[in-house]
Amino acid sequence: SKKLKISSSFESMKLKDDLLRGIYSYGFEAPSAIQSRAITQIISGKDVIAQAQSGTGKTATFTIGMLQAIDLKNKDLQALILSPTRELASQIHQVVSNLGDYMNVQSFAITGGKTMKDDIKKIQRNGCQVVSGTPGRVLDMFKRQMLKSRNIKMLILDEADELLSETLGFKQQIYDIFTKLPPSCQVVVVSATMNKDILEITKKFMNDPVKILVKRDEISLEGIKQYYVNVEREEWKFDTLCDLYDSLTITQCVIFCNSKKKVDWLSQKLIQNNFAIVSMHGDMEQDERDRVMNEFRTGQSRVLVSTDVWARGIDVQQVSLVINYDLCENLENYIHRIGRSGRFGRKGIAINFITKNDVLLLKQIEKIIKLR
Ligand code: ADP
Ligand code: MG
Repeated sequence: SKKLKISSSFESMKLKDDLLRGIYSYGFEAPSAIQSRAITQIISGKDVIAQAQSGTGKTATFTIGMLQAIDLKNKDLQALILSPTRELASQIHQVVSNLGDYMNVQSFAITGGKTMKDDIKKIQRNGCQVVSGTPGRVLDMFKRQMLKSRNIKMLILDEADELLSETLGFKQQIYDIFTKLPPSCQVVVVSATMNKDILEITKKFMNDPVKILVKRDEISLEGIKQYYVNVEREEWKFDTLCDLYDSLTITQCVIFCNSKKKVDWLSQKLIQNNFAIVSMHGDMEQDERDRVMNEFRTGQSRVLVSTDVWARGIDVQQVSLVINYDLCENLENYIHRIGRSGRFGRKGIAINFITKNDVLLLKQIEKIIKLR
């Protein structure tokens, strides 16, 4: 295959002045590896599959490519970014707003769990050029013709392997959305993890894509040290966690459990024992989810107990420790969970609680990743 062009600076990408200004005032100085490879490919109009380790700046990769490609004079919806959780869709919208700060771009987060009344009014008044949303709500807005799909020229799937997986129920929604897009629509898919099945599926709706992929054994970040604690039995996890608590609060920490029920149980038990924590999962009211996210992002709370709703994409730079209170059910989730720490070259630590039942999965993980 042909060698990809690598742009060593943002200037060399020939971006609009206002976009370049947005990038620098956001604090970026030089592009990361994925940014220097993929942004110009996206701008060239080709379909792109971009894989890069977690925390290496994939959001800005597709956001900069997208902001360069849209026509600011046209007030129609031109770019649609889909991702699997409301928090992630909002976070991406925030990045679009920040990088596009000097472009006067009309961008909206279109997610479930809240009413769209105010947004719809604003959209009717000022137009809407970019949407970052979750598939269900976006599809709903198309069906009710609150959003127009016919002028969309770029579809971006962040966490694409999750969106297209057989098990989660987004896949059909994505296909339904896809049928509403113009046939010429450019497609960009992004994730830290890409498997063969997903690459196969993308053939159905991508046109000779440029592929930027990571080798399987390089998928986990060097900067994240991974440990396991053999707790032997489920009942012994809690005391182990309590013993660790003082080190959890040095910066910020996310504790993962495998079910919403377990998150509720563990957070109650921690609170009863006077540990300061917050928790979040998909059955909570959106207002509560927003409140917890806000507290955690601002550092008011330092320890968060959550499910895999937090596994993908969420970027809180102060998180330096991830605890898998329950080991996750597959390797992909493992990669994403531990990737909540070690953002953009920072150091991170992951600690896995292992019981006798986890030994098989642990072996699988160890095949790919060195644990201590
Ligand atoms: P990914 O999607 O690859 O996991 P993100 O897009 O969430 O990673 O980016 C991780 C962090 O790195 C974010 O806090 C982001 O602001 C920061 N970042 C991205 N690109 C740059 C850059 N070129 N310079 C400095 N920081 C960056
Ligand atoms: Mg991401």
